[in-house]
Amino acid sequence: MSSNIEVLRICQYCNNEFIAKKTTTKHCSHKCASRAYKQRLKVLKIEESNAETFKIKNKTIVDLKEKEFLTVKEVSLLLGFSTRTLYRMINENKLNAHKFTERKTIVKRSDIDLLFEQPKPQQSKTNLLEPIKNPEIIDCYTISEIVEKFNISNGALYNLIKRKNINKFSKGKYTYIAKRDIDIIF
Ligand SMILES: [Zn+2]
Repeated sequence: MSSNIEVLRICQYCNNEFIAKKTTTKHCSHKCASRAYKQRLKVLKIEESNAETFKIKNKTIVDLKEKEFLTVKEVSLLLGFSTRTLYRMINENKLNAHKFTERKTIVKRSDIDLLFEQPKPQQSKTNLLEPIKNPEIIDCYTISEIVEKFNISNGALYNLIKRKNINKFSKGKYTYIAKRDIDIIF
């Protein structure tokens, strides 16, 4: 049933105000309605195409997971690394690979798995948060040594010590800080 109401609406396509006869009208004209419809179709098509791409990509990765020998390009798809990164890792002996020809480098699946089993680098053991207890004087700087070596003012240094919660201790008339705790900062 049609009614005689008139409502002020804003067209969802062109943003112009218009008078609608129904509260459900979304567009000012047929033209806008059909353009909006086409736009919606286009968005749907793009979404569909994206989903398709994702499916293909995903299938490739599933297939790659089954392969025992992979090219560097395939490893890059599998791990999400660039081939450049992978070649660097191969050159640095971080990743085992067999170079058959100039253009054919093959990585064994098991060597990729090995990447994840390597022990973490030593660095994680020296942590700023765990200060060395009772370091030897020879492994320490005095305050004035730090000031001189790193060209920092006394005040700035004490601020830093406080902020980073660096362990310091006094012996005789000197205040000492473990070299490692300071070197890691500068
Ligand atoms: Zn419109």
